[in-house]
Amino acid sequence: MQNPILSSCIHCALPQHLCVCDLQINLPLPLQCCIILHAREMEKASSTGRLLYKTGICRGELWHRTQHNGRHMFTHIDHPCYLLHPQGEITLPAALPERALFIALDGTWQQANKILRQDSFLADLPRVRLPPADPSQLCLRRNQLQGGLSTLESIASLLKYNAASIQAAQLMALFEKFQHHHLMARNQGYYNLCKPV
Ligand SMILES: [Zn+2]
Repeated sequence: MQNPILSSCIHCALPQHLCVCDLQINLPLPLQCCIILHAREMEKASSTGRLLYKTGICRGELWHRTQHNGRHMFTHIDHPCYLLHPQGEITLPAALPERALFIALDGTWQQANKILRQDSFLADLPRVRLPPADPSQLCLRRNQLQGGLSTLESIASLLKYNAASIQAAQLMALFEKFQHHHLMARNQGYYNLCKPV
């Protein structure tokens, strides 16, 4: 019998026969985005932030309070940084600043709030909220941060706002297939057998 750990895709974390990595996404994205991942998120096969990071669609950073925090990650960035946050003080401007970097926290409300409590660099960034969007279609997880949207849906919404509708649609197609296949794998008892890498 095939080793279930070896048969898991290292990028999307799905079983090989349900891998979604062949879906086309036009890269690079026209916006700079970075996903900050809580360590626990990296262990979760259902994490859409992990999916964006591991498939190379978005830059991703594994957060650590002292060894790899916002100050370490963004020391050399000299263009505007914004934190996507459902309680952002400012809405997105009509014309986004050139080379702006959008940072999304991936994880539960509790994890994201913990990161902001312990990371003054990230906490002090200007917070922007996305314009109202369709309700989240996420059914894999609860307690996501971005106004009820998963991280992937938030990035897709940001792209859509910036007139990158093709990539936004591609990301949503990835989201739907990933979610569908994840549920299939879960129903097959796959996640009782192995953890994604
Ligand atoms: Zn895959």
